Amino acid sequence: MPQQHDLEKMVLDTSAILSGRFDTSSPQFYVTSSILNEIEKGKISRYLKMAETSMNVIDPDSSSVAKVVEAARSSGDIDRLSNTDIEAVALALQLGAVLVTDDYSMQNTSRILGIKSTGASIKEIGKVIEWIYRCTGCGRIYEKNTGTCAICGHALKNYPRSTRKIHEGPGKKPNSR
Ligand SMILES: [Zn+2]
Repeated sequence: MPQQHDLEKMVLDTSAILSGRFDTSSPQFYVTSSILNEIEKGKISRYLKMAETSMNVIDPDSSSVAKVVEAARSSGDIDRLSNTDIEAVALALQLGAVLVTDDYSMQNTSRILGIKSTGASIKEIGKVIEWIYRCTGCGRIYEKNTGTCAICGHALKNYPRSTRKIHEGPGKKPNSR
């Protein structure tokens, strides 16, 4: 039996999917049906195909949606959030997942609810994703992309292991005083 590795659940919003930064064939990714609809309407079939074949499509329960609406009302973000946005935040809440979005109001609402969020354009918010590589055959995890599995010869795919904070931008020296 291959060793179980915990891959963090991540809810991807439309911008995150379209960023192309995420290998949506990984089982760790979740979307709502309305996010899929948005992508469908954009006729970005390449992404739709990836989404259809791989991501988990779940719509949040009504109590999670209600909590998000309440938090967004209290913060004043509610007017800047579409139903699709609210559902994405609610799904992250429900699943205990990381929300991946570039939308500031979604990030802010997530923060209020204790949901971890990260930007699709990672650089902007000072976080990076550490990638690991997993064999599509036996599931063995590799730190480096060696292309194929040394054990069974299947192709490796990349997965984000986790997010971690990095220092702001290049050139800025943190903690130098
Ligand atoms: Zn293998």
